Amino acid sequence: MSIETVFIGFGSNQGDRHDYCDRALTLMNLLPHSQLTRISSYYETEPIDPHGTMGTTWFYNGVVQIETNIAPHSLLEILQETERGLGRHDDGRNGPRTMDFDILLYGQHTMAEPGLTIPHPRLHLRRFVLAPLAELAPAWVHPILKKSITELLNNVDDLAQVQKLKLIPGSRYGHYPTCARSLS
Ligand code: ADP
Ligand code: MG
Repeated sequence: MSIETVFIGFGSNQGDRHDYCDRALTLMNLLPHSQLTRISSYYETEPIDPHGTMGTTWFYNGVVQIETNIAPHSLLEILQETERGLGRHDDGRNGPRTMDFDILLYGQHTMAEPGLTIPHPRLHLRRFVLAPLAELAPAWVHPILKKSITELLNNVDDLAQVQKLKLIPGSRYGHYPTCARSLS
């Protein structure tokens, strides 16, 4: 595998969401054969829940950029293992979770296989993904839709609210490199 630029979305709406996100970043920083290069701001986001959002805790969401030569399926496996390590039990899509990782973009690669679709099949439908992703990769062209992330964000129908937070991502774990925007 060659080295690819990969964007991973993360989100938490259970327990101490800030802490789960900071821990997730620490673990992203430890991924083998990879370098964590950029981190978006954290956003607090209204859940999209088919059963209604009344009483559902808002998410903390963000996106990281890594350079990696971990192949897509192996990366998904590592991320799922990390989700379990962070206490995730499977409560179904859009249900409450301590940590959710999504492989959003993997270079310009595309795939649609059982269990792994790249780009993430709902990336262009979700403001809570597009807003942080647009911080890191506004001009990145979606390899199937052929539109930039900025264009997708400007045209997304999703009305769920997203609020950018003034927290420094990862800062609870002191030695972690200060993250805002660019680590390189
Ligand atoms: P969502 O992220 O849409 O809320 P879930 O996290 O509950 O949904 O869905 C997890 C499932 O999605 C996993 O079993 C995984 O196999 C599948 N999946 C397909 N494509 C991807 C991707 N690009 N990134 C992460 N999971 C994916
Ligand atoms: Mg997911």
